[in-house]
Amino acid sequence: MSYTSRDDRYDKMKYRRTGKSGLLLPAVSLGLWHNFGDIDNQENARTILRLAFDKGITHFDLANNYGPPAGSAEENFGRIFKQDFTGYRDELIISSKAGWGMWPGPYGDHGSKKYLVASMDQSLKRMGLDYVDIFYHHRPDPSTPLEETMRTLDLFVRQGKALYVGISSYNPEESKAAIQMLRSMGTPCLLHQPKYSMFDRWIEDGLLEVLEEEGVGCICFSPLAQGLLSNKYLKGIPEGSRARSHRGNGAMDETAVTPEKIARVVQLNEIAKRRGQNLAQLALAWVLRHEQVTSVLIGVSKPEQVTDSIACLENLAFSGEELKEIDVILKS
Ligand code: NDP
Repeated sequence: MSYTSRDDRYDKMKYRRTGKSGLLLPAVSLGLWHNFGDIDNQENARTILRLAFDKGITHFDLANNYGPPAGSAEENFGRIFKQDFTGYRDELIISSKAGWGMWPGPYGDHGSKKYLVASMDQSLKRMGLDYVDIFYHHRPDPSTPLEETMRTLDLFVRQGKALYVGISSYNPEESKAAIQMLRSMGTPCLLHQPKYSMFDRWIEDGLLEVLEEEGVGCICFSPLAQGLLSNKYLKGIPEGSRARSHRGNGAMDETAVTPEKIARVVQLNEIAKRRGQNLAQLALAWVLRHEQVTSVLIGVSKPEQVTDSIACLENLAFSGEELKEIDVILKS
């Protein structure tokens, strides 16, 4: 059945400016790391993408290696894009990345120009796109000169294969160097994509300050710690959850669901209830409390999780007392 998006799709979503750029991103963006591979249900994947766009999620985040198997998320997204979203291309921000192992041999990993150029062309082909809106170097590569990697990002913008570029998981010093080098080449760094959640607060130790100083946006991945920061693990590990799925490729497994984490989740859940939210909504709102954070990059296995997670936007304000109470739980 052909798809027409809802006319009211922009009514409720909030859009935030990405650093000092001209680009607005939805406060909640959707990532396709899991649930869009060849091992997944394609009708479910299509329903999720349609619903997300209907709710004002204009940003879909991919990478060369998403699946499994690697590459299949881009391929499946490309097919759904062709069926449903071709007419909406100018309303969408589609990103991809390269930097993790993708094909065998010395040219299928890390940060060389050889790898990145080939990977970009493969990604565009798999998705059936002429360009991506954002292209990231997926992780720092200390063995490749930073200038080689940044020159390649700059090249993509000059070639029109990417409108904007970003970096992911670079530490504060690496980020500053990369951002300043890109600027000297005439290509601003749009966005940093770090991991950040109540269970992983590393960006508070310097990275947010660098991004603020440099006017670069921030889109946080795994804001629910892959689902741990939701109600689902309160009474054990449910069937069908990510912790049970053994998908590999960095997905968490049962060992991540420790008694110590669950004890915290139970206490956080009480705060969420008091705020009229569920735990996932509290966890997303907490990430969005930073002014420098442009967007939270969620993953979902079911369409209902899109609707549920977006409802975090209904209560983004925290009192000083609430933040203190959360800190005590997280640091105990
Ligand atoms: P999350 O922390 O949001 O975890 C997603 C999982 O949480 C879902 O699969 C689901 O688990 C559960 N979930 C989501 N919403 C709800 C809800 N409302 N209620 C209950 N459970 C919920 O993010 P991801 O770890 O999936 O990462 C998101 C995106 O970030 C990726 O798709 C990717 O685009 C990006 N990313 C980038 C990386 C990088 O290196 N740059 C690395 C990792 C991710 P279940 O499946 O159990 O239902």
